[in-house]
Amino acid sequence: MTRTFYIETWGCQMNDLDSQRLAGSLKLRGYRRVDDESQANLILLNTCSIRDKAEHKVFSRLGALRELKRRNDVQIGVCGCVAQQEGETILERAPWVDFVMGPGNVGYIEDVLSGRTRVATNFPEDRRYDFLSVDRPSATKALITIIEGCNKNCTFCIVPTTRGREISRPFHDVLAEVRAAVESGRSEIELLGQTVNAYICPTSGRDFGTLLSAVADIHGVARLRFMTSHPAVVNDNMIAAMRDHSNISRYLHLPVQSGSSRVLRRMKRLYTREKYLEIIDRIRTAIPEIHFSTDVIVGFPGESENDFLETLDLIEQIRYGSLFAFKYSPRPGTPSLKIGPPVQEAIADERLSRLFALHERIKRERLESYRGRVLPVLVEGPSRHDPSMLSGRTDDNWVVNFVGDLATPLGSMLGVRIDQAQHHTLRGEAM
Ligand code: SAM
Repeated sequence: MTRTFYIETWGCQMNDLDSQRLAGSLKLRGYRRVDDESQANLILLNTCSIRDKAEHKVFSRLGALRELKRRNDVQIGVCGCVAQQEGETILERAPWVDFVMGPGNVGYIEDVLSGRTRVATNFPEDRRYDFLSVDRPSATKALITIIEGCNKNCTFCIVPTTRGREISRPFHDVLAEVRAAVESGRSEIELLGQTVNAYICPTSGRDFGTLLSAVADIHGVARLRFMTSHPAVVNDNMIAAMRDHSNISRYLHLPVQSGSSRVLRRMKRLYTREKYLEIIDRIRTAIPEIHFSTDVIVGFPGESENDFLETLDLIEQIRYGSLFAFKYSPRPGTPSLKIGPPVQEAIADERLSRLFALHERIKRERLESYRGRVLPVLVEGPSRHDPSMLSGRTDDNWVVNFVGDLATPLGSMLGVRIDQAQHHTLRGEAM
């Protein structure tokens, strides 16, 4: 009888891709995916621990699966960052779990399925990566990891613990995977890494800018994005690659975390407010139409009202199109725990609301500025909210829902006249 699997994925695109890799290798082993956990012979929870009390969420989910384990022939595996963070403790607290597997072991699922290993939380030197078996849910887009782990050691961040030291994939492996994705009809490519622009080919030393250019030059790559860049590693080669290739999205997610140099120093972000503004300036000079997006942490230990006002001021100066803001969340074992207690909850909440209010206004003004313009839009499929319309993205990564011919092939580039700015998206009509 065919064995079945169910995967639940929390967190970032890295976790999405890890789940696609796990699903692909399970299918190669003859498993079939099911959407109902009670029908599965294998349940994988692919977890995230970047913020909040992620481990509590996982244990409460495991509590709910305990009864299922009693009734069914099912293996339960905890994967992802909570698996890496908690390791053996998961088996002690939830003995009905069969195995725990961290992000470094995604290529080695056989070891845990066979029962050979119950706790796989090492980071093998050879991160086996079978790109031909990735089970990609989209017919037009492909996520492609180019670098795993992170060496930056920001004081608030759990990533170096959960994803290990940086390790870049060989240049030609990445290009081969992009070519294979394009040949299978996926013309939108997104390169992934916790610090994607720290990429450096382990054999040739080629850097991120060189890789970006080489990927953009591959015939059939209609649009190229990448995530997440660290401001301290932006260099001229990367900016030139973006400037010189029209198929590289005019969009850059560049997490600032705080607008105060004092806080940035305590976060160990490796840049000051002035340096960050200078990088933004350099990029804007080369690519004036660029859409910047960012991450901000409010309530970092010791953040004063003045520090926070500097963050608001920086947001006003840069006028980010998109912004993701989080309340500081103390993470186990991170150096920020020694810096001091977080800012009081009520104060952090209030700061977060002021920050969102400011950004709402800026975003609205930016979206309004597109009204009446005709923009090239890459068609992604029917609109999620209204299937009588199409949906796609502009060069600078805004989602556009528009009236158009529903028979338009996915991946086509259309001129769309923008009629309306909505909350997070644009609305228009194909010309
Ligand atoms: N590697 C990227 C970087 O360094 O910018 C992104 C890492 S993380 C997946 C995404 C965002 O989560 C971070 O940019 C940061 O704003 C936020 N984050 C990370 N750790 C956090 C923490 N302890 N508390 C609150 N937010 C956090």
